[in-house]
Amino acid sequence: MSDKVDRAAPDWRRNIPRTDHLMRLSEVVEALTRVGETEVKGVISRHQQLAREGSLPVEEVSGAIVRALRNHSALSLTSVINATGVVIHTNLGRAPLSVAAREALQTAAGYVDIEMNLATGQRSSRGSGAREALLQACPAAEDALVVNNGAAALLLAVTAYAKAPRPDAANAHSAQEILVSRGELIEIGAGFRLTDLMESTGAKLREVGTTNRTHLADYARAMGLGTGCILKVHPSNFRVEGFTAEADIASLHELAEQHGVPLVLDLGSGLLTRDQLLPDEPDIDSALRAGADIVIASGDKLLGGPQAGLLLGKREAIARLASHPLARAVRSDKLTLAALEATLRGSDSPVTSAVHADSAALHERTARLAAELGADVVPHDGRVGGGGAPGVPLHGWAIDLPEDVAERLRRGTPAVLARVHRGRCLVDLRCVPERDDAQLLAAITLAYSDHAHGADQLGS
Ligand SMILES: *Cc1c(COP(=O)(O)O)cnc(C)c1O
Repeated sequence: MSDKVDRAAPDWRRNIPRTDHLMRLSEVVEALTRVGETEVKGVISRHQQLAREGSLPVEEVSGAIVRALRNHSALSLTSVINATGVVIHTNLGRAPLSVAAREALQTAAGYVDIEMNLATGQRSSRGSGAREALLQACPAAEDALVVNNGAAALLLAVTAYAKAPRPDAANAHSAQEILVSRGELIEIGAGFRLTDLMESTGAKLREVGTTNRTHLADYARAMGLGTGCILKVHPSNFRVEGFTAEADIASLHELAEQHGVPLVLDLGSGLLTRDQLLPDEPDIDSALRAGADIVIASGDKLLGGPQAGLLLGKREAIARLASHPLARAVRSDKLTLAALEATLRGSDSPVTSAVHADSAALHERTARLAAELGADVVPHDGRVGGGGAPGVPLHGWAIDLPEDVAERLRRGTPAVLARVHRGRCLVDLRCVPERDDAQLLAAITLAYSDHAHGADQLGS
C-alpha cells in the first residue's frame, strides 16, 4: 500500500527541501543563536511532514520555517496583560518586577561579584547588597536574611527554634513546642497548610486559645520550659469578624521576654511600612518596633519584588538562623538577590503603583479605550490579591464587554486576562502599564470583532 503511495507522488516529495539544506539558511543559522538545535530541527521536521501530507505546498516550506523560527522562543511561558484588577495575581506569577529589578536580572545573569570583594580580591558574604537595602528600608531591623520564599523562611525559623533545646529545659534533647493561636492555623493556597509545614520539621505545635478568640493568658498558661518560641501568623487571606480577640505583639513580646523565648511573626504580605490605603495590613517596621524578634514576609507580595522569603529582626536571632544547616538548603540565588535589591532601591514597584493607582486617571484611560470600542465603562473594584488585604476593595473602573470576549482575549496575542463576572467580561486597567494601552486596545478590538462575527453566524 505505502509503496503504491510513494510511487504515486515521487517527484514533488523529492522536492521537499532537505534538512541539511534548510539548516544552512541564514535565518535558520540566526535562530540557532537563540534556540537549541533540537528545537530548530523539530520545527523543520514538522513543516516537512506537513508538506509530505500535502497540507503545505513544497515551495512554501522554507518560507514557513523561517517565519515559524522568527517567533520561536526557547521559553514556553507567555507574557500576559493582567486586566483583572487583581494586583498580586497568584496564577500570573504574583508581583511583576520593576524596571530596576528587570535590569538587575539582566546584569546578574552573567558573572557577578556575588561572593567577592573586587577591591580586595577576597571572598565576601553572599547577597550583602540585598541585605543592606533591606536594612536601609527597614531601620528597625538589626539584621536580615533572604531565603527562597516565605514558606522556606518559616521552615527555617520553626526548625531552628524547635530543634535547638534550651539549656535550662529538663530534657535537653526533646523537641521544643511552638505556641500558636488556633485562630492563626491557616491554609494559604493550593492546599498548602502552615500546620503541615511546621509539623514536617518535627516541631510540636502547641495550639492555644480558640478560633475566634485568643488572649495573652492563653499563651501564658501554655508557656513552659519546653517552649521553643511563640509564633504569630497573620491570617492573610481571610477575615474573622464579630466576637474576636488576639494578643497584640507588644504584650506577646513581654511574655516571650519574661520566659527567654523568641517571638516570631509571619506577616505574609510584607509591607515594609504602614500603608494608609491598607489600614489592617501589618507592616514589618511596626512589628519589629513592637518587639518581634523575627519577622517573616514574602518578597513577591506587597513588596513587589521577586519570589523570596525575608527574615528581619534581632541580630542574635538572625545569626542563629543564618548558621543553621538548613539555611544553605533554602538560600536565594543571585537573580533573586539582585532583583530584590533593585526593587528596594528603585522607584515605586508596579505593585505599589497599581495598588495606589489614581481613580480619576484610571477612569480617563478606561473611558478613552471604551469610547474607541463603543463599549460602556462600569465601576469595578480591584483587589490586592495574593492573600494580601482580604476584602479591601480598590475602587476603579472596567470596560464592560460580552462574556465570550474573555476567552478570545485569553487566547490572543498578546494574551489578555480579563475578569469574567456575572456573565460579563470586565477589562480593568489598574494593573496594565499605560504604555500597553495601544496593544490592549488592538487585542480587544480584534477579540470584539470576532465576537460580532460569531454572533452574526449564530443569528443567521
Ligand atoms: C504567602 C504566605 C506565606 C508563604 O509565603 P510564600 O512566599 O508563598 O512561600 C506564609 N505565611 C503567610 C501568612 C502568607 O501570607
